[in-house]
Amino acid sequence: MPGDERGVRSVERGSIGEDMSERYFPDGMPPPLADTTTLPWWQAAAEHRLVVQRCADCQATRLPPSPVCAECRSPEFDWKEVSGGGSVYTFTIVHRPIAADQALPFVIAVIALDDSGGIRMISNLVEVECDEVEVGMAVELVWEDMSEELALPRFRPRQS
Ligand SMILES: [Zn+2]
Repeated sequence: MPGDERGVRSVERGSIGEDMSERYFPDGMPPPLADTTTLPWWQAAAEHRLVVQRCADCQATRLPPSPVCAECRSPEFDWKEVSGGGSVYTFTIVHRPIAADQALPFVIAVIALDDSGGIRMISNLVEVECDEVEVGMAVELVWEDMSEELALPRFRPRQS
């Protein structure tokens, strides 16, 4: 399994049925690796739940996951599920492939997540023409099942 030699491991995905999502990126994309701090986030993602880490003492949210609250230094936390709605905070258009057979160009965006306590996360915009992307564009979450074990959150223009 990739990464074992560095003391990290990839995520085993729970069974969520036979239906796999639409695919936007090729299998050869470098997979993310989980550690003890981030594993619960990846496990939630595998169940198609987008969560942010929330301090149990001061309620400040954070992402990516970290062991200690940056606001109050508390090590206590829980996980808050968010809707996946949001807006484009900023973005870039990439013309060089990361993996073989990758469609170009593609969009990397920072998404300001709704109802998340101000969390912004880096992801990809899909189902959109690159020249249509704008700062402030309303987006919604779409899961991409990269394999039976790994689901990644992407975003597309809000459809509803
Ligand atoms: Zn805190």
